[in-house]
Amino acid sequence: MKKDRNYKIIAAIGLMLVTGMLTGCAKFFPMEKDEASETADSCSREIFAMDTVMTVTTYGDNAEEAVEAAEVEINRLDALFSVGNADSDIARLNADKSALVSGETCELISRSKELYKSTEGALNIAVYPLMEAWGFTSGEYRVPEEDELVALLNCMDVDEISLDNNSGEVKLPQQMGIDLGAIAKGYTSSRLMDIFTSYNITSAIVSLGGNVQTLGVKTDGSKWRVAIEDPFSEDGQEYAGILEIQDQAVITSGAYERYFEQDGKRYHHILDPATGYPAENGLASVTIVSEDGTLADALSTALFVMGKDKALAYWQEHAEDFEVILIEDSGEMTISEGLEDYFSSEKEFTVVRRNQG
Ligand code: ADP
Ligand code: MG
Repeated sequence: MKKDRNYKIIAAIGLMLVTGMLTGCAKFFPMEKDEASETADSCSREIFAMDTVMTVTTYGDNAEEAVEAAEVEINRLDALFSVGNADSDIARLNADKSALVSGETCELISRSKELYKSTEGALNIAVYPLMEAWGFTSGEYRVPEEDELVALLNCMDVDEISLDNNSGEVKLPQQMGIDLGAIAKGYTSSRLMDIFTSYNITSAIVSLGGNVQTLGVKTDGSKWRVAIEDPFSEDGQEYAGILEIQDQAVITSGAYERYFEQDGKRYHHILDPATGYPAENGLASVTIVSEDGTLADALSTALFVMGKDKALAYWQEHAEDFEVILIEDSGEMTISEGLEDYFSSEKEFTVVRRNQG
């Protein structure tokens, strides 16, 4: 069985974001959208790219031009990073193991190398052959043999990717393949914020497959309200809490987003580079809040792989860069202290504080 709930979650969450509503969900979507498009100085568009549904909404003068530019940018970056498009920087690199790539691809690979180090390998863009082995790239799901996984794990040392920032030449070891899936949408939402700013837009929100990034505040001066999905929700319509944010990205990785089942066991799409198997450490979802969308995306994946204790230790070391919400399989919810005044939930949660000294 395959499940990809992104579609309806985005529709529902996108709606909540745009309208500030917290209930009602998808069935109200068309109505709300019509209302929005009747307002002269706002523009909202749904775009399908990067294998997911995206919603882009801008307010103010130039709203429509900015959304148009956002769509062009999304398609441009999709064409650059997509593993499935033979002409993309990443697909050429995977095929030839050596390629001249754009400055942006260099920049993202370089960032991924840094994060590989700082997360002690939890973020590993060389997962592509592993993703293939599990069938996540083709949809022909299977559980690979142990020795097959061991062989693949030996070709995942991201330090071995060589990068020449001047010429744009990237080289991979012969058996390696890369996949920017854990980080590309966050980079894209960050780029959209820059584009909006260049159009003098001061209020905008995007949801790229549930990955949200906001510019400024809502036109009434209040913060954006972003629903954090309940990972245990049967239909993806319930939320675990609400965050109020401005000028930030809110990005969630969860075991429930894409998976298949075999012999009663569930296998999801975030792989632990230490074992080759889907990460299984008691976490149901990780949400990262940061001004840096690329970082938020990378860390939502990496901290999900790390598990609760390591994730919180990583936050302690980098608390000036991001905040985090962890939801465990047990239902227990933990938020970092910087979110305390901005998070509300009907469920219980624990606030972790920064270590002194
Ligand atoms: P989503 O794309 O569903 O929002 P993530 O941001 O967590 O979720 O990215 C998951 C994707 O990242 C996978 O589909 C795969 O392409 C890639 N990936 C899986 N495991 C890892 C990992 N440990 N490090 C880096 N990339 C990974
Ligand atoms: Mg991610």
